[in-house]
Amino acid sequence: MSGLQDLLREDLRGHEPYGAPQLDVPVALNTNESSYEVPRTVVDAIVRRVGEVAPTLNRYPDREFAAVREALAGYVTSTTGCAVDADQIWAANGSNEVLQHLVQAFGGAERTALGFTPSYSMHPLISRGMGMTWIDGMRSCDPAVFDVSAQLAASQAREVDPHVVFLCSPNNPTGTALALDVVEAVYEAAPHAIIVVDEAYAEFARPGTPSALTLLPGRERLVVTRTMSKAFAFAGVRLGYLAADAELTSLLRLVRLPYHLSAVTQAVTCAAFEHTGDMLAMVEAIKGSRDALVAGLDALGLTPVPSDANFVLVGGFPDERATWQALLERGVLVRDVGIPHHLRITAGTPEETQAVLTALREVISTPA
Ligand code: PMP
Repeated sequence: MSGLQDLLREDLRGHEPYGAPQLDVPVALNTNESSYEVPRTVVDAIVRRVGEVAPTLNRYPDREFAAVREALAGYVTSTTGCAVDADQIWAANGSNEVLQHLVQAFGGAERTALGFTPSYSMHPLISRGMGMTWIDGMRSCDPAVFDVSAQLAASQAREVDPHVVFLCSPNNPTGTALALDVVEAVYEAAPHAIIVVDEAYAEFARPGTPSALTLLPGRERLVVTRTMSKAFAFAGVRLGYLAADAELTSLLRLVRLPYHLSAVTQAVTCAAFEHTGDMLAMVEAIKGSRDALVAGLDALGLTPVPSDANFVLVGGFPDERATWQALLERGVLVRDVGIPHHLRITAGTPEETQAVLTALREVISTPA
């Protein structure tokens, strides 16, 4: 008789599942959520809209989630200045599911995905989960430099000739934004690939940081994914989306499960867009906390990486695992992302920023 490990697909054996700890701590700064609750105006709109759909939950929801797509297209167009139609928008349960749809449609077994490490850990997990070969590309020749070089990225893309390329801007876990010439160079160098630019943190970018949305016209293989989990303080709703060529978007219907966005999810999403301004009001405050966090970490003699996201990667820990544990003992949960001597800290409220800096000062000054 075989054990379950023997029954598991060979390409999944020995791999770890995604697993950020979900611990009940006073200061949770480990998953880049918004620390701010959903505003009252939106809570009221959610209750009203969910009340309206509740009696009709005996029926399947709108399979085309038309109202959600309209709302997202309007939001993207008005906030970025890049005109996007509803038929260029796709949405799913978190941008993770959007990424999975892309890999299901354009990746799969016997195909290759390329990413530039360190980056979002779900890119390889989703790709391998669909049977793809994953290639860990290099961001730069110097491992201490987290920016991606256009030349190096393009030469790796040319060599691998992948079916899917993942870029991430601002990048998780480094916080660094991509220059658009990297996207352009990779697009040209990988002519058989769908080029995915994961912009989950785009709303937190500093002024002047360009979005890959500006590159969409004329590039039918380019996809920009975004989410409501971060800037919209909506991680619990599970709503991610993408903007791309309308034909590409349409092809994703081949792989989605029927009615994948529930009527409740659609109602809650539309409620948020009744009050977009209230939903995004905290973004500036979070950017302020991020900048204060960078300054505070610097003042502690640590080495924060300049960030365009709602988190900061910081180096300078002789033993990052021990520091992670010592912070947890002080009620502060941050993220060990597997980069030696570094930890990743989400920018929360000003109080949380103070709490993590105070705890770090104590930990650093306490001899091991
Ligand atoms: N992309 C990146 C870069 C992320 O960091 C995350 C969440 N941590 C996601 C996508 C997925 O977010 P969600 O599924 O909540 O939209």
